[in-house]
Amino acid sequence: MFDNLSDKLSGIFNALTKRGALSEEDVNAALREVRRALLEADVALEVARSFIDKVRSRAVGAEVIKSVTPGQMVVKIVHDELVAMLGAEAEGIDLEAPAPVGILMVGLQGSGKTTTTAKIAKRLTEKAKRRVLLASLDTRRPAAMEQLAVLGKQVGVETLPIVAGQSAVQIARRAMEAARLGGFDVVMLDTAGRVTLDEALMLEAAEVKAVAQPHEVLLVADSLTGQDAVNTAKAFDGRLGLTGIVLTRMDGDGRGGAALSMRAVTGKPIKLVGTGEKVDALEDFHPARVANRILG
Ligand code: GDP
Repeated sequence: MFDNLSDKLSGIFNALTKRGALSEEDVNAALREVRRALLEADVALEVARSFIDKVRSRAVGAEVIKSVTPGQMVVKIVHDELVAMLGAEAEGIDLEAPAPVGILMVGLQGSGKTTTTAKIAKRLTEKAKRRVLLASLDTRRPAAMEQLAVLGKQVGVETLPIVAGQSAVQIARRAMEAARLGGFDVVMLDTAGRVTLDEALMLEAAEVKAVAQPHEVLLVADSLTGQDAVNTAKAFDGRLGLTGIVLTRMDGDGRGGAALSMRAVTGKPIKLVGTGEKVDALEDFHPARVANRILG
């Protein structure tokens, strides 16, 4: 991820820092190249545009151009604005609510939702020392319910027993009740994966949300799908009110556009990233570290 973008930017900035003195036109020309590199990395058009405007308004002033190392100052401004675009601070999962804290997991089928649910459950159990209960609400796909049970066992986290014939809302209610009675700290509800932004399933997820009153509503989105992932996030956020996003397949060789524009387009933080198929391939999302990686 980001390799191509990173190579392009380092080419642009190497040329810029080598030159010593810079004119306004030099800076503008470099920023046009940066904009092109962002668009090639599949960053949303409005995000690339606003990013370049912000950098330009800080970089084209006399202070930068007349400084001893104007090229380096431009690179520093790009770095700072990149961090701001990615969300500035790392934001983890918020568990600051009365137990049992509900976490609603939503996303398209195949995005990695069920795997990510297990990954998060493992992390909350091992690192945050919380007692977690998992429940699958995917009533249409018994195999998905089974998959969560298997993954739960693998990570040592309890799953709500499967009762055939219950609706998603009924399961959600049962999960919250079981968590209250059983003294669990966290309940993770894995909603039905959908192939498209299906209205019936969206309605179902909204009903589940109303019943479970989750503290976190996390969208799992596949970073390899680029701008589609961003559009998916906008749609889910509009209907369900997301509290955060988990981007999966960050280990793949995607162009990085989803990771780069997600925050700016949706206003919602990327809280975690999936970096592999294994149950511990989950990492915090640190905007500054990502910016450092991109800028080499
Ligand atoms: P769901 O349909 O959204 O619940 O998707 P699954 O959780 O079943 O995941 C679909 C496939 O993607 C599985 O083979 C997972 O192992 C894989 N997967 C999930 N997250 C990641 C990730 O971060 N990186 C990679 N490489 N594979 C992932």
